[in-house]
Amino acid sequence: MAGPYLPLKTGARGLKVGLARMPPKAREAEHARLVRELEAHEYRYYVLDDPVVSDAAFDALMQKLRALEAEHPELVTADSPTQRVGGETRPFITKIRREHRMFSLDNAYSPEEMLEFHRRVALGLRDGDTATFTVEPKLDGASIEVIYDSGRLAQATTRGDGAEGEEITPNVRTIRGVPSRIPHTGKLTLRGEVLIFRKDLEKLNAERDAAGLERFANARNAAAGAVRMMDPREVAKRPLRVIFYQAVEGPQVRPTHSETLKWLAELGLPTHLREKVTAWEGVMDAIAAIDRARADYPFETDGAVVKVDSFRQQDVLGATSKFPKWAIAYKFPAERAITTVRSITVQVGRTGALTPVANMDPVELGGTTVSRASLHNADQIRELDVRVGDRVSIQKAGEIIPQVLAVEARSRPPGTEPYEMPKECPVCGTRVVSRVREEGKPEVEATVRCPNRQCPAQVQGRILYFASRPAMAIDHLGESLVDQLVTKGLVKDVADLYDLTAEQLTELERMGKKSAQNVIASIQASRERTLDRLVGGLGIPQVGQVAGRQVAQVAGTLETLLGWSEDELREHIGGIHGFGDKMVDSVVDFLEDEAERAVLKKLLDRNVGRPQPREVVATEGPLLGKSLCVTGVLTRKRDDVHALLRAAGATIHDSVKKDTTYLVAGDKTGKTKLDQAKKYGATVVTEEEMDRLLAGEGLAGA
Ligand code: AMP
Ligand code: ZN
Repeated sequence: MAGPYLPLKTGARGLKVGLARMPPKAREAEHARLVRELEAHEYRYYVLDDPVVSDAAFDALMQKLRALEAEHPELVTADSPTQRVGGETRPFITKIRREHRMFSLDNAYSPEEMLEFHRRVALGLRDGDTATFTVEPKLDGASIEVIYDSGRLAQATTRGDGAEGEEITPNVRTIRGVPSRIPHTGKLTLRGEVLIFRKDLEKLNAERDAAGLERFANARNAAAGAVRMMDPREVAKRPLRVIFYQAVEGPQVRPTHSETLKWLAELGLPTHLREKVTAWEGVMDAIAAIDRARADYPFETDGAVVKVDSFRQQDVLGATSKFPKWAIAYKFPAERAITTVRSITVQVGRTGALTPVANMDPVELGGTTVSRASLHNADQIRELDVRVGDRVSIQKAGEIIPQVLAVEARSRPPGTEPYEMPKECPVCGTRVVSRVREEGKPEVEATVRCPNRQCPAQVQGRILYFASRPAMAIDHLGESLVDQLVTKGLVKDVADLYDLTAEQLTELERMGKKSAQNVIASIQASRERTLDRLVGGLGIPQVGQVAGRQVAQVAGTLETLLGWSEDELREHIGGIHGFGDKMVDSVVDFLEDEAERAVLKKLLDRNVGRPQPREVVATEGPLLGKSLCVTGVLTRKRDDVHALLRAAGATIHDSVKKDTTYLVAGDKTGKTKLDQAKKYGATVVTEEEMDRLLAGEGLAGA
């Protein structure tokens, strides 16, 4: 397992003696030596998971390298370990057409389909030529291609559409464990998967919770989003890993895939080294072994990949337009578990909506222990007829919060009652109002709401919404802090945030002096946000960030917005492109409401919100005259996507309307949005298809 850089010589020799006076050649050699040593330690830490020095010793070495580079900037190279923090933000990402297409994998879900695969392989090979197979875990992340040239990391790209990917070299340079140099002189083209390990995702999510940011639903989304970010410094902050699973060019050094993987490991590259080589008879056993072991893998695995081991045979078998014929992915069934519902509690959201949650006996599911499942709304509880005491089967399909699939009604204990939504808000006790699902209107969701706007749960929700990233982006204002602020009565509305002092905060639980100062600084800094973020963060019904921005555009300042009479309001807001009557009413009602006005006046007095800069409207572009709505989780930030679309001439809306041309649907797109798209005849497109539209290419096959 020892890589070429091992064993390590630790402890630097006589560095203290006058670096500056060292002759240039010696400085260069010293620099190269430090780089090698640091990379060897990174290899032990990130690839072998077997460090030989303490974190402090590692940091000290890094410090030495930094000092040397600070004194002699000419020594800094793009691939120096000091550069792992990432360089400048890039204005755009270039597309690169690759020499060898990146394929996806054909899937099999049953032993029968695997037999079918084997039959095709046998038919494809000449008589009497039998194949040996490798079986390896299917890594669930984002695939990339990395090219080494003359021993240096030269280029990294995303998979894109296979033939063409996006250049992400600066991002991949920040990933620890990916060596910037390898002891191999020829060109070497590798395929690998960018991943986030489970324990790293937990940590990352805990940090995001603390910062009041949305959690990542799964490691795949977090990894896929990160590799494509424009700012390598942000990428460097994500705990990314790469595992290489294939060499495309250069492997001719070794005749088989499995030997190539070993060779890659010898070069110091991270590979999973868990592959098993076997005749066909052993393939299903090897798959079963991976299935048993995968809960202990540090990363998520949703299947096993079976490949014909010999490169010669791979060449004979070839590929279809989409898949290589010499490989297949066996997908494990989605993970399910059975447990018992102990209670059903209700959460109250920002808008007052009551969401039931099933609290269950803790059970292992996909490597984590789960004890809660969201039941979404009263409709879903009724449809499933979930009752306290029921045994239920739950499933996790990528998301962190599992779903209740079905109820084992037969084993239901006697004497249970169907669940009834509470008649009073569980937080403030106000009588709830409900809207039932209307016959023939599937898009109208049944809801039960607490109508009391002063309800602490709602106040808390509104503040978190106001502070969230797309709105005022107030860092350090996490859920538990806001909870305390509201419960203690320190904050009754969003404007009160700006009166808080560090002294008040230090009296709260788990709040040191330093963090209190940080919170206050973030709050005060947010006064500089432009009006669009402020309006979008108010939580006006039907008005999200996009509509909020449109309102901000016509008003310019908060003062103007508050100064308008009802008639003026109707005139200005009614003139906004895409605002229907309902939306206009909603904005006018909000701005005419005495309580809301009072809060807005308080914000104005506290000098919150900068005037809205006038926007340059694109007068040409492939999407001119088209109206789009973007929803779900995309690989890029929603704001960035909106900016791209606007620059291409598009108009953006928060919801699907009569004149919406395209609905861009990311991961976890809600059913409501899809139903609306159907109703209004909007075309639903994926993020990739949107990129094609932006490039002026039109939709494939359309
Ligand atoms: P799919 O995206 O479902 O078509 O699956 C194909 C993708 O699986 C490839 O592009 C790789 O990114 C990924 N993959 C994960 N693990 C492996 C592996 N061990 N060998 C080959 N591909 C893999
Ligand atoms: Zn309430």
